[in-house]
Amino acid sequence: MGSEEKNQQSRVMPILFPVILVIAGILYYVFNPSSDSWFFKCPFHLITGLQCPGCGTQRAIHCLLHGDAMEALRFNAFIIVIIPFLLLMAIGEWYNYHHWFDWINRCFNNRYTMIALGVLTLGWWVIRNIIGI
Ligand SMILES: [Zn+2]
Repeated sequence: MGSEEKNQQSRVMPILFPVILVIAGILYYVFNPSSDSWFFKCPFHLITGLQCPGCGTQRAIHCLLHGDAMEALRFNAFIIVIIPFLLLMAIGEWYNYHHWFDWINRCFNNRYTMIALGVLTLGWWVIRNIIGI
């Protein structure tokens, strides 16, 4: 990624990110992915019948927004556990104007965290299909 492209991203994402979060939050609060058929369906699940690492995310977010954390964990525990870390990574990447969040970048936005995240995602993918969660 060139520095021009990086600069453009650093100007757009701090504005776009909360807008997307609010719109998605309203959408997932008002509509229930379990009963409204127009929500995005997982192509991996449709083709194979198996769960991908993200399967159940929409239903989990709907439950979380309605305060039902246990049901959210049942739909996709991995995503619910990882959401705070993803939000921290976004804050460190897009809102670190005064270097207040350098500690986030040192802890989460580095190669080792990305490798760990990849390994955990693959592990979750395999385990959830073996034990059926
Ligand atoms: Zn899926």
